Formats: sequence, structure tokens, C-alpha cells
Amino acid sequence: MTTPPKNWNRRSLATRAVHAGRIEPPVENTVVTPIFQSATYQAAAEYDAAYNDIRYVRMNNTPNHAVLAGKMAALEETEAAIVCSSGMAAITTTLMTLVSSGEHIVAADTLYGGTQMWLDHDAPDFGISYSAIDLAKPATWGAAVNGKSRVLYVETISNPLIGIADLAALVTFARSHKLVTVIDNTFASPVVCQPATAGFDIVLHSATKYLNGHSDLAAGVICGRQKWLDPILTRLNHLGGTLDPHSCFLLERGLKTLTLRVNRQSETALTLARWLDQHEGVAGVNYAGLDSHPRHALATEQFRGFGGMMSFYLADSYSPAAFLGSFDVILHAWSLGGPETLCVQPSKSSHVGLTERELARLGITENLIRVSVGLEDADDLLDDFSQALKAASP
Ligand code: PLP
Repeated sequence: MTTPPKNWNRRSLATRAVHAGRIEPPVENTVVTPIFQSATYQAAAEYDAAYNDIRYVRMNNTPNHAVLAGKMAALEETEAAIVCSSGMAAITTTLMTLVSSGEHIVAADTLYGGTQMWLDHDAPDFGISYSAIDLAKPATWGAAVNGKSRVLYVETISNPLIGIADLAALVTFARSHKLVTVIDNTFASPVVCQPATAGFDIVLHSATKYLNGHSDLAAGVICGRQKWLDPILTRLNHLGGTLDPHSCFLLERGLKTLTLRVNRQSETALTLARWLDQHEGVAGVNYAGLDSHPRHALATEQFRGFGGMMSFYLADSYSPAAFLGSFDVILHAWSLGGPETLCVQPSKSSHVGLTERELARLGITENLIRVSVGLEDADDLLDDFSQALKAASP
């Protein structure tokens, strides 16, 4: 049905976000990919398809899936991509393909709470163990590797403390230990960073966040070389983490405005971070765009903009509950990457499944507030933060 894909990579990221992956020639001259709401597809009288090529909705290979895979491969500059039902489906399916019972993962010590809980509580049930590394201390990384280590797993920008991974150093380290490099690029998005261009083997996303960008669906993406993705797709097709065609359509629509949205969110986030940083009710701001961030120079070198995610500590005497309960525009809600600015306490949301000891180890205290900067006017957000801080003051 499709002609071979064009080489969209000679076009800019903004152009790729709009056009890459589109069906050519278009079905009925459509400009927008139609929704192929068909669970199954007719076969030729004689066919000889490999398992993953049998066209069936659970195999994530309908035309809507193919368009998205082409677009995401172009955006992350990888050979191929797979879309699936959620970020967690992308993460767990990838790790459960690359690592078998008896084997080991080397992972960053600050990760999205769902990933952290999977490593702590689910992976052991499958005979998979892990060791955590502090990304800021490369000299200690080697001690975490053992003869059974298979994967190095990190996040480009960590959730919720906005730690910044040194991509080049991690790739060099992983290659010297023959580890497959896997990175969750959700917080950055390909607009801010394309880790495959720094040598990462597999780039994962919760497409629920920036890629879709409208807070109205769940999806995941796995990008990388075909040789890595083939076995991951087989496992995904067995585990069943399918994205339905209608969500594919919505995700494709969201992706078309990705660069516009993320660039605007980065700009507003920097304004907000600078403003919060000088406020007496704020004890510290985690945002890589600030000179005070320990990895500011590295982030400036390896990123384009610093993204729309930040976190900050309310001063001790300020009440988190009063702060979160006093917004006029901003919403107190979890998730991120949408048009609405969202604030949340990670200790009570994304990381609520962690024990108190784990939370204390990571520095995720009750006064830590995470902000997903939306698309509202920056002045309206400053005004809302200002009045909420006033309401939270002693
Ligand atoms: N990775 C990061 C960095 C996240 O913040 C999240 C969810 O918040 C996930 C992965 C999981 O994504 P999903 O909720 O789409 O499964």
C-alpha cells in the first residue's frame, strides 16, 4: 500500500514533525492520515508473511501505526520505531526483551516512579536484578557492573529532580562493558535532545506526554536500530501492549505541533525558573537552564533549549497543601507535557509507591513541587504562582 519512505532527515525537525511517515501516495488524496479502524486485514491468496508482518491490530502494524513509526524514527533519527500502548509498555517490554532471568541492569538512581517500582518489585519476580548508579559520579559506575549486566538504563532529564545525563560519557562507559544503552527521553522530547545521535541504542518515550501533547491519551514509543527492535516487537506482540488506531490518529495529530509546543514550553519554563529562584518562598529550583544547575554547561552543550519540566522546593515554613490548593489557572494534577501547566508533589504522586527510605535517599521531600510548564501566557503563570505562594506563606 505504501511506497518506500522518503528520506525526511534532510528536512528540519519541524518539517519532519508535520510530514515524516505520511502515506504515499495518499489514500483518496487525503491530507491527514485516515483512521484505519479495522482489526484485521485481507490476505492475498498466497502469502508468506513473517509473524510480525501479519497485519492485525494487536501487532501494532496497521497503516496508522506505520505512519507513526516512520515519523518517530525521523524525529529521533533512528533506523526504526515501534508505537505501543503506554510509556510503561515501552519500558517494560524493552527491558524484558533485552534482559533475561539471571541477568542484570545498571540503572540511574533517579528514575520515573513507575520504572523504579518495576525495577524494585517486578523485575525480581522474573529473576532480573539491578544496581543503581549516581550519574554525577562516573568514577563509581564501574562498580555497579557484573558479568551478568546487559543494559544501561537512564533518563535524559530525570524525574522529578531534573538531573542531566552526560550522554557521551554514558555511551563510552556502556560500550566498554558491552551494555546495550537504553534511555527514557520523555522529559526532553526529540526537540530538546536526540540521544541516538549521541550513540544510544534504544530511545524510549511515554508518548502520553510531550509527543502527544494534549493530555488526552496514553501511548509509548521505542526507537532504535531494526536489529534491536525486531525481538522487542515480537515480545510486545505477545504481551499485547497495543495502541488502538484512533489513539494513533490523535498521537499523529499531536506530533505535528511538537516543535512549536516544546520550544514555547522551554522558553516559558526558563522565565518561570528565574522568577521562582529569586522568590523568598522558594528554597531552590531544579532547572537545567539556570546557571546554578550543576549540569548547566553540559545541558547547554547537548540540548536545544532545556525543556518544560522543572521542580522546586518550597521554603520550610510554606505549606505545600495551601500552595497546591490556591491556583487560579494552574492545575494540581499529575502527568506532564500538555498545554495546561500542572503542579504536583512527586512524593504523593509519581513516586508515591516508593518507601520513605527510598524517597529520602533520592531527596524527594514533601516540599518538592514538580511543574510541567504548559502553553499559557508566561505573565499569567507568574501571577498565579505569585498568589499561590502568598496563600502558602506562614
Ligand atoms: N517515563 C517518564 C519519564 C514518565 O514521567 C512516565 C509517566 O509519567 C512514564 C515513563 C510512563 O508513561 P505512561 O504513563 O505513558 O505509561
